[in-house]
Amino acid sequence: MPRDPFNREIDYLRISVTDRCNFRCVYCMPLDGLRFLPNNELLSPAEIETVIRAAVAVGFRKFRFTGGEPTLRLDLPEIIERAASVPGVGQLALTTNAMLLDTLAEPLKRAGLARINVHLDSLNRETLERQMRWANFDHMWAGIMAAERVGLTPIKLNAVVTAGYNENDVVDLARLTFERDWHVRFIELMPLGGGECARLSVKRYVSNIETRRRIESAFGPLSELPSDNPADEAQNFKLAGARGVVGFISPVSEPYCGTCNRMRLTADGKFHLCLLNDDEMDVRKALRSGAADVEQQVGAILIRAVQHKPTGHHLLEGRSTRERSMYQIGG
Ligand code: SAM
Ligand code: SF4
Repeated sequence: MPRDPFNREIDYLRISVTDRCNFRCVYCMPLDGLRFLPNNELLSPAEIETVIRAAVAVGFRKFRFTGGEPTLRLDLPEIIERAASVPGVGQLALTTNAMLLDTLAEPLKRAGLARINVHLDSLNRETLERQMRWANFDHMWAGIMAAERVGLTPIKLNAVVTAGYNENDVVDLARLTFERDWHVRFIELMPLGGGECARLSVKRYVSNIETRRRIESAFGPLSELPSDNPADEAQNFKLAGARGVVGFISPVSEPYCGTCNRMRLTADGKFHLCLLNDDEMDVRKALRSGAADVEQQVGAILIRAVQHKPTGHHLLEGRSTRERSMYQIGG
């Protein structure tokens, strides 16, 4: 398994397959001024497969597909099928807004997908549609149900807590864990990309300390669960009598850079070394070089990317990425 200069074992690759999305969440995508990658700049399913083969060969085991909204790629089942065919690949996961999952859950499962994380900021239709602009609660809920039905489990829900939008809805979301064995996780806002969404993310930030307080005032104390995975970015808890798990992902109030095990691949074929940093290494040129040893070349770039992975972020000093926003990296 590759280690970075800070002795972190990096074995998890998050693969963004598109920068497009069918939503415009207020902290992620502005309504105007967006420019998307042309199709010929996106990695093809075969190119993504080559990266996964190279990554497995150098010791990567965990892979997640993300975006933008990954389900907008019509060839997502093919991408997953190709990934699943790579010997040594671990469980394949997907992060999605679930809007299109009602019909896609079954073909994705058949293609080899193991689990999903669904981004759902509220159970209140009005808040949801105000915060996750263009969202439709009924379609998303049908998508989550379809995922559960076909066994894309455990279902993990992610809610980005945003002041003046869903900060009080965290109680209803946490209540879901009494009825269902789901993980409901609360994410702190991060400002990426320097534009209007970054400014909103600073202004509307809610610390998970506050979110936890809201949940505990409603339901009593949360008890912390022992971690079986030191690289899990969520701190996991249970409410008394609950079936599911309440998780907190707190990159701002409790940074977890020291246990980061991630590398990211952007939809246009760059290894993005750290979510909160602009450093990247191009891999598309090698993939399109036509060289006979392309897999080895990609593996060598990946090892170099791991060796240059930075640590520590500067969110509290107001510094983050300038070049790319969240939808262009994949979260
Ligand atoms: N569209 C999919 C989705 O929303 O899950 C996948 C891509 S999205 C960029 C990945 C994750 O980024 C989302 O689950 C959302 O929780 C998170 N995200 C987006 N903007 C964020 C922000 N400003 N701060 C914190 N998390 C953010
Ligand atoms: Fe789309 Fe996901 Fe960004 Fe929301 S967070 S705009 S669903 S990419």
